Amino acid sequence: MAKQIQAIRGMKDILPQQTPLWQYLEGRVRSVLGRYGYDEIRMPIVEMTELFKRSIGEVTDIVEKEMYTFEDRNGDSLTLRPEGTAGCVRAGLENGLIFNQTQRLWYQGPMFRHERPQKGRYRQFHQIGVEAFGLEGPDIDLELILITARLWKELGLQGLELQLNTLGTADERARYRDVLVDYFQDHHNQLDEDSRRRLESNPLRILDTKNPEMAEVVAQAPTLMEHLSETSLDHFAQLRQGLDSAGVSYVLNPRLVRGLDYYSRTVFEWVTDQLGAQGTVCAGGRYDGLVEQLGGRPTSAVGFAMGLERLIALLETTDATQQLPTVDLYLIMMGETAKSRGMQLAEELRDVLPDLRLISHCGGGGFKSQFKKADKSQARYAAILGDDEVAKGEIGLKPLRDNGEQQQVKISDLAGILADKL
Ligand code: ATP
Ligand code: MG
Repeated sequence: MAKQIQAIRGMKDILPQQTPLWQYLEGRVRSVLGRYGYDEIRMPIVEMTELFKRSIGEVTDIVEKEMYTFEDRNGDSLTLRPEGTAGCVRAGLENGLIFNQTQRLWYQGPMFRHERPQKGRYRQFHQIGVEAFGLEGPDIDLELILITARLWKELGLQGLELQLNTLGTADERARYRDVLVDYFQDHHNQLDEDSRRRLESNPLRILDTKNPEMAEVVAQAPTLMEHLSETSLDHFAQLRQGLDSAGVSYVLNPRLVRGLDYYSRTVFEWVTDQLGAQGTVCAGGRYDGLVEQLGGRPTSAVGFAMGLERLIALLETTDATQQLPTVDLYLIMMGETAKSRGMQLAEELRDVLPDLRLISHCGGGGFKSQFKKADKSQARYAAILGDDEVAKGEIGLKPLRDNGEQQQVKISDLAGILADKL
């Protein structure tokens, strides 16, 4: 036998027994977003490398070491998208969706980052992202957070904590940056190698360090909050007021700076302690500078993305799996007449019961083996049709989940009986 080829490390198949939960999650999200008036946009998975360098920032983990970048046959540098915001803004600009209008958009699909694979962290993972353009007030920040809160409620996810921070505007950050560089230079001996490098390139990211030995020096650092303008403080205060009025609780986390360069003002993350180290299931914020950075007119923008693998892992800890749709009926057919009548009957049932989940047995075989397959399908009922039954206009109906008896019913009554039972 030929050697089998394996999937790429960190890229997982989502198997048939897992897809119902994925569909459930995606369906709930799609429903909530539709009800808030958000429209889906679908972008290519591959973009020009330049797009990500310019938007995410050259000195970020993603661009420095996580991108899947390659040359295509024309010699262009292309990259598998590591996130969706850059492509969404690119598509919006290119198609005239952003200038002088408001847009509420969402997208979903695979993202690619060459990280160290571990639980909750993969090289191909999936996000649903939401972006709102052309709205500068804190009301839209609030709406986005309310969407996520509603989602957790409708998905039955508990124990998620909302962490909130504001990063101010680019100018305010630049001034703060100088203060921060001074502070860290005074404490140079307490910095690790990564942070010393960041001191030159991206000192704010030092605050994001996961090195426990630097916890102290980071905790003592001056905060951005002390360096914000009235307008920025007011934006943040209004958002917090809105959250309070809506009864959404949150924790202020001044260390929350987010891994991407393009954020301004509001940033937030939803975090759980049930998934170990990879506890952030949703993250987002305002990025008022990005549209201009990518060649558009200055445009307010705010969005978030959620990691579906992590949400699936959370859902697996709830009773969501019990709410997934299952097969209603498995049709067993014994004999040639029964076979042809059965296939026809299945179509008649599908005509009158549009939601019926019905598997018609295919592939022949004896009663025992057909019944085994019915059992394995997890169907709620088996219908048993033999040549004798066809002659009498009857069919057997047996509940498979409890030990109910098989009853003989009229074929013509079957649809009505199923409609009552299901
Ligand atoms: P992290 O700090 O966990 O690396 P991030 O800040 O890099 O996350 P974002 O770019 O904000 O993540 O992406 C939004 C969400 O996408 C994350 O909160 C997470 O749920 C999910 N996500 C990010 N990277 C991965 C990955 N490699 N595998 C699985 N999910 C991921
Ligand atoms: Mg990351």
